Amino acid sequence: MEEIQKLKDKLAHLEKENSALKQRVIDLERSEVELKETTKSMEEKSATLSAIVMSSDDAIVSKTLEGIITSWNSSAERIFGYKETEMIGQPILKIIPEDRKDEEVEILSKLRQGIRVEHFETRRLKKNGQFLDVSLTISPVRDTAGTIIGLSKIARDITERKLEEQRKHNFVAMVSHELKTPLTAITAYLQILLQASKKDNHSFYIATLTRAEVQAKKMITMIKDFLTLARLEEGKIQINKDKFELHPMMRELTEDAQFLTNKHVIELNSCDGIWVYGDPEKLSHVIMNLLNNAIKYSPEGGAITIHCDKQGDHVQISVQDEGVGINPADQKRLFERFYRVNSDKIKTVSGFGIGLYLASEILRFHDSKIEVKSQEGIGSTFSFSLNIHQ
Ligand code: ADP
Repeated sequence: MEEIQKLKDKLAHLEKENSALKQRVIDLERSEVELKETTKSMEEKSATLSAIVMSSDDAIVSKTLEGIITSWNSSAERIFGYKETEMIGQPILKIIPEDRKDEEVEILSKLRQGIRVEHFETRRLKKNGQFLDVSLTISPVRDTAGTIIGLSKIARDITERKLEEQRKHNFVAMVSHELKTPLTAITAYLQILLQASKKDNHSFYIATLTRAEVQAKKMITMIKDFLTLARLEEGKIQINKDKFELHPMMRELTEDAQFLTNKHVIELNSCDGIWVYGDPEKLSHVIMNLLNNAIKYSPEGGAITIHCDKQGDHVQISVQDEGVGINPADQKRLFERFYRVNSDKIKTVSGFGIGLYLASEILRFHDSKIEVKSQEGIGSTFSFSLNIHQ
């Protein structure tokens, strides 16, 4: 009897185990189906991605952190002239011109920190030895744990755009040059008429001629900007450095800027007794540009304040406004040539997007850098530092 009971218990136990095993088999089958589905969806995604990469008009290249090429799409073959088989396993330096090799180190260091490099305009070398103007967007590639394991690079051929820019540029430089002389003469005649009207105390003429002079001066500023840009691009810009006192220059610029507006109050703070070493004409051009922008991009008016903050052996000069402000994405691109913010609030404000580019280039010649702090709807502050001349 006891023996039978034992067998019954064992049978019950075995049945339990059997049903647990069956359940396990069902679970495993389900996991297998799920795994198949995931694999299928990943394969589909990967096929879509490779179709995009293959059909893209841009060169898409990936490489290791050491700069060894791991993939090379058909547009890369077309643009650079090297076949995929010639490039896989090769160093990316193969397509980088000698004088641009340092760029790669800089780009790599940014990417190692996980920073994406966007619209970086540079030159690359084709197989036939010709140079190619390209715009690069480079992103870090991470594994599932988030570690950067490589880089992906999209290179757009911008040769045509560059040529077009150059043609436009030559034309504008030529026109600017031709317009400068007659415009300077017109301003001089306006000033003579203005003096005469002031003598006769003729208020209508004074008001009209003053407005005409403001407009003529705006045109002269624009033309000067274009000519400076042309000189800069031809490498012919001349920087004539000397020591000079900041305050008189700043006072004159404040007065000139105030002359352009009656909606804004322009205030100058604490620039007294500071001497710097630089090109006074070019630096006043930079500050006038910042003041002009502060006026243009504060359509509601408000205060514009110029500060000179002594900080050790240098002085920080800033122009602060209460205008429309600039969003963080645009802030990063403001100093690019021809870059203008696309916003409804300022779409009627005229300009060519070269003022800040010129300012940053001029400051580069003074070992300085222009910076912006801004908040939309609150205002902007543009600043840069100069070494104090002791
Ligand atoms: P421009 O004024 O001719 O467009 P700039 O190079 O001087 O060219 O300025 C580039 C862009 O930066 C402007 O189009 C404008 O959108 C933005 N910007 C410059 N200064 C200011 C400012 N003080 N406040 C708001 N936006 C500004």
